[in-house]
Amino acid sequence: MKELAETVGVHIRTAQGWKREGMPVVPGSSPVLVMGCEVKAFLRAKRAKRKVCLGEGQFYCLSCKKAVIGANVAALVNPATIGKGKAFYTLRGRCANCGGIVNRFSAAPDPNRNAFTGEDSSYDTMR
Ligand SMILES: [Zn+2]
Repeated sequence: MKELAETVGVHIRTAQGWKREGMPVVPGSSPVLVMGCEVKAFLRAKRAKRKVCLGEGQFYCLSCKKAVIGANVAALVNPATIGKGKAFYTLRGRCANCGGIVNRFSAAPDPNRNAFTGEDSSYDTMR
């Protein structure tokens, strides 16, 4: 477990938690042995389960731990650029549920404008 934690760069308690959550280990091994490819697959599946797809105008709230509608959203230009020098923005607003600050990175300055198609699909409540 200690070697796994060091290899992956997490605290040993995190690696021990993975074992309790069902990370595959070599049966009967003491100290516990793991197969690297099995650990990778376990962590990939764990990450996929946690992943939240955000709709337009939605933000992920770290307090509510879910996708929420943002209120009082403002676009801040990031000093960095993406791709071929395209500007990108931090959309910052308030969570409509708890009032906490929510952030989202976007290629479009308008939270209701699809960054990929440029189509506007406003939520009237957000204007
Ligand atoms: Zn919230």
